[in-house]
Amino acid sequence: MLKGKVALITGGSRGIGKATALKLATLGADIAAVSYNPGDEAASLCKQLQDMGVRAEAFKCDVADFQAAKETVDAVKELFGTVDILINNAGITRDGLIMSMKEDAFDSVIDTNLKGAFNMIRHCTPIFVRQRGGKIVNVSSVAGIMGNAGQANYSASKAGMIGLTKSVARELASRNVCCNAIAPGFIATDMTKDISQDNPLMKAIPLGRQGLPEEVAELIAFLCSADYITGEVIRIDGGMAI
Ligand code: NAP
Repeated sequence: MLKGKVALITGGSRGIGKATALKLATLGADIAAVSYNPGDEAASLCKQLQDMGVRAEAFKCDVADFQAAKETVDAVKELFGTVDILINNAGITRDGLIMSMKEDAFDSVIDTNLKGAFNMIRHCTPIFVRQRGGKIVNVSSVAGIMGNAGQANYSASKAGMIGLTKSVARELASRNVCCNAIAPGFIATDMTKDISQDNPLMKAIPLGRQGLPEEVAELIAFLCSADYITGEVIRIDGGMAI
């Protein structure tokens, strides 16, 4: 149970982040849902969470912006009192072949996916250290383990998150902070809605289907309650990267 715990979820407005907010709220956690441009969907999610009996608030923040990330963590602490759980889930893709990838496509994906995770960890760590406890779950990808043609920027950002996870896990273990990563395969969200069922990568999933955001949320919730797992990377990919 996570009753009384405060969970900050980046990319908390849609897809995996939204499913995670709902799952953690069923376990009793209060939810700070951070997204780039919270609109009606974020507002109705917060209403749904509040109706479940937890505190919930949407926050607007570009996680790639170091100062904005600090102000958001400060605002969450101010409103909820603390942060116990950080889910670094905000992510983007800007696919293209390496031959023609623009510098800006590389930088923006690294800045959001990898530096965004660093920014949030950096600003939450003093809170975790002071309260001698915390859980961090970084949403990486099988692309960070296997690589993927057309996703050099995305794969590099997700591989970077795995290195970040392992270093932070080693550094903060003595303060009772666990830091783990998950590596989803193809999950049915806005990010993958344009990938057709005929895509060869889709055919390479041994379990023969896309995953659901709710299935990923179950794994994240498990890691939020696991006190003796740190520095781990767990694939949730239907066997894709076996
Ligand atoms: P999604 O449906 O496209 O949602 C992305 C979320 O990230 C949105 O809430 C978006 O906010 C937020 N976001 C994007 N850029 C941001 C920024 N600069 N600052 C703050 N928030 C930002 O994505 P998803 O499929 O749920 O993916 C969630 C995570 O899982 C990502 O890190 C993704 O790389 C990873 N993942 C997904 C899959 C998959 O198959 N779907 C597979 C492996 C890994 P707005 O709503 O305001 O735009």
